[in-house]
Amino acid sequence: MKMATLEGSRKTVDDALIKAFINSIQGEVLSEGDPGYNEARVIYNGMFDIKPALIVRTITVDDVVKTVNFARDNNILLAVKGGGHSVAGKCLSEGGITIDLRPMNEIQVDPKARTARVGGGTLLGEMDKATQVYGLAAPAGTVSDTGVAGLTLGAGFGWLRAKYGLSIDNLLSVDIVTADGQFRHASEGENEDLFWAVRGGSGNFGIVTTFEFRLHPVGPELMFSGPMYPAENAKTIITQWRDFMTDAPDEYSSLLILMNVPELDPFPKEIQGRAAIMLAGVHCGPLEDGECFVKPLREMGELLFDLSGPKKYTEIQSMFDSPLPQGAMICYFTSLYLETFDNDVVDTLIKSFGERPAKLIPFLVEDLRGASMRVPADKTAFGDRSVPYRAELNSAWLDPKESESNIAWTRENMDKFKPFSSGRTYLNHSGLNEEGESLVKRTYGANYERLRQIKKRYDPGNLFRLNQNISPA
Ligand SMILES: Cc1cc2nc3c(=O)[nH]c(=O)nc-3n(C[C@H](O)[C@H](O)[C@H](O)COP(=O)(O)OP(=O)(O)OC[C@H]3O[C@@H](n4cnc5c(N)ncnc54)[C@H](O)[C@@H]3O)c2cc1C
Repeated sequence: MKMATLEGSRKTVDDALIKAFINSIQGEVLSEGDPGYNEARVIYNGMFDIKPALIVRTITVDDVVKTVNFARDNNILLAVKGGGHSVAGKCLSEGGITIDLRPMNEIQVDPKARTARVGGGTLLGEMDKATQVYGLAAPAGTVSDTGVAGLTLGAGFGWLRAKYGLSIDNLLSVDIVTADGQFRHASEGENEDLFWAVRGGSGNFGIVTTFEFRLHPVGPELMFSGPMYPAENAKTIITQWRDFMTDAPDEYSSLLILMNVPELDPFPKEIQGRAAIMLAGVHCGPLEDGECFVKPLREMGELLFDLSGPKKYTEIQSMFDSPLPQGAMICYFTSLYLETFDNDVVDTLIKSFGERPAKLIPFLVEDLRGASMRVPADKTAFGDRSVPYRAELNSAWLDPKESESNIAWTRENMDKFKPFSSGRTYLNHSGLNEEGESLVKRTYGANYERLRQIKKRYDPGNLFRLNQNISPA
């Protein structure tokens, strides 16, 4: 069989060797033509048609160890797939091996200790469902079919971040298979360097088979704010939101959403498709406090619609799921941390929003204040938390013919925010990783050299390179 090498060339791998490897795996190994192969290579972003030579659907740690050893010993390009939300398509390897961890989605909740052990292939929705049985939750993201793995290894921003921090701030330990095929446990007290590096260092350091999270009492119902205003009033609404948020308590995490009203229930037909601003947010304190706190947000002008109200945490966690199946949309997501959100930034945002050609996914501005901002830059690999805003320009469309122009438009418009930013991005939202290591270096800042040293220790041959790659020192 011809397979892609780490360096990008092709080599012939002996059929007997491949057969012996496949026979050693307890999970399923798929190649082109096998039933299930095409389904296993569908990911969120429909831009790609990547065909791995082998997709290994691991069911045990031993499967992961054997696949890592096989890829390393034979110099084969290796990709790691959790939830498949990598917008850059890095979770699949063209012509190489893709480890698909989805079958490893076991979740064990310890309600007394308020911890959960979560398999490396788990989706956020699966984790939320399991922890909410006990009225608990781990801070995660806002879309339920995102993978716990990729989200957490990149940081993990969600509705509980102002109160409890990012996903990495609630990570207690990981079980991880490193490039030498060793199974290791990493925590504050064991393999501390590795534990520091996985908290923001992406998939660079190994394959996490289990995440252990600290849980918090959450819900079951929380106050959700979702007033929607017509985009014609964007400037007054956005500036009011910005000023209101400067005094917000840690209980409230907020997201400014610039969107076209989806053509779906519960939105009335007459407003579907209209450009709107939603002041989305979640108050994770008592419902009455939340209701009272979000009231002014709902009275900032003439409403188009209002999604506000007490909602189950699990409902909130899936409110922003795409109605389309995985792979149906083609997307390009970019982001920048903003030092300021002054009126010039607001004007730039409104202008770009008004002109955007690909309207299936919203633009977002996240107010980052609260617990997640109070973590020192050197505490985790993720780095600097001092910046109060993050803007995301997201484009999504259906026709592949529009890809080139939509990507170019999104890049050009994100560049307009550079004067208001140090150029750091959220690496989980960094386009197609076209800027490569220069962006990675700029984003990690003072942590970058330490990450390179740790990469050298655990992955000197850069086996784990299909990610926001950190090259070994
Ligand atoms: C629709 C959508 C909504 C999103 N919402 C949020 C959000 O609310 N908050 C937020 O912070 N981010 C969000 N993201 C970004 C998201 O965190 C990243 O795309 C993340 O990489 C997705 O993880 P995944 O496991 O689904 O991805 P995958 O594509 O499966 O994996 C991405 C990368 O993670 C690594 N990886 C995956 N699994 C493992 C593992 N077990 N061990 C080691 N490495 C692994 C690999 O390097 C892989 O290339 C969103 C993305 C999308 C597309």
